[in-house]
Amino acid sequence: MEFMSDVLGGADAGKPSLFEIVAQHKMSSLLEPALRHVTSVCAHRYPRYLVRVLSWHEEAYAAAMLLVERHYLRNYGGSFTEHFYGTKRVRARTIRGSSAMTRADEWRSLVFLIGLPLAKARLDQLYERLSGGAAARLLGGAFAQSAGDDGDDDGAPRPGVRGRLDAARRIATRLFKRYYPHANFAYHMATAVYYVAYMFDRTDYNSPWLHLLGLQVRRMSADDYRALDARGPAASGLEAPPNGSPLRAARNLVARLLAGGLDLLRVALPLSIFFYRFLEWWYRSDFHRRLQQAPIPPPPMPLRPHPDGLAVPDDQARCPICEKPRTNPAMAPSGYVFCYPCIHGCLAETGACPVTLTRADPSAIRKLYTDA
Ligand SMILES: [Zn+2]
Repeated sequence: MEFMSDVLGGADAGKPSLFEIVAQHKMSSLLEPALRHVTSVCAHRYPRYLVRVLSWHEEAYAAAMLLVERHYLRNYGGSFTEHFYGTKRVRARTIRGSSAMTRADEWRSLVFLIGLPLAKARLDQLYERLSGGAAARLLGGAFAQSAGDDGDDDGAPRPGVRGRLDAARRIATRLFKRYYPHANFAYHMATAVYYVAYMFDRTDYNSPWLHLLGLQVRRMSADDYRALDARGPAASGLEAPPNGSPLRAARNLVARLLAGGLDLLRVALPLSIFFYRFLEWWYRSDFHRRLQQAPIPPPPMPLRPHPDGLAVPDDQARCPICEKPRTNPAMAPSGYVFCYPCIHGCLAETGACPVTLTRADPSAIRKLYTDA
């Protein structure tokens, strides 16, 4: 919203536009399905290892992203997608003149970058299960209620501690089912409100979570890029002391390779999104079906007349057997056309087409409706 911020007098070159923010959020929400798709494609090939990963995909993804996001937060001062769009996180309240994130900020950022989406995905699934899944949404609340209650009431109340636990679980389930939709609504509403407020320059935080953390997303300046370039070798461990022990050297090497791999993700992860988007389009459009359709094959080669068989008259309208213009034309399986009485008598007698001498039965004669 460059225009908007110019108009409202909040022209701030360091503040990313709402479009960049939305693009970032969109990208991070696409990463998970894209990687899930890649995993499921691979799982077809190596089901032994990857099917289990697929059933715990959210957790596996969270664990992988924990590594990725921590690397980007520590080395580039922003999450993976934030860095991809040339932005970084800065503290709203500076510490000793520096607005750079502290370690605590990094960890808190990780909680909101990874823990929150993971928890939300799991809670969504739980709600879906408790409220009877897709059927509940189609059939309305009544069905959801009965489906849920069936799951809750499993016989007579049990005595003692276990009974009390059961009761507590039932109450928790009921409360969850009742209030989760509201919480979910509030979650999405808060995000939307922050978008609007951000667009109209009412806030410098593009999400409620960043506001909670006291962190703002700002464009990276030329100085930031210069600083990154300057400390590049140091960060990747190239300046490791040469007199270190072999163990430390090996550890440095692994760390360096890991950092290099994580930096490569800047190319690999967006590529996986494009790949996913491409596959999505590919399977939705009928383009691949058109490609898969085999072209019409050429007609089979005609059987040549046998040297010992009857000659085919030059005039195609004549019967090769009686050599008169055909009456009641009929075709032998060889493809040659005769009068019906001629070819029937011939096949009944010899069991072979008189022209090509290939075996044929009178039942295989076909009547032609137009004279060729
Ligand atoms: Zn004939």
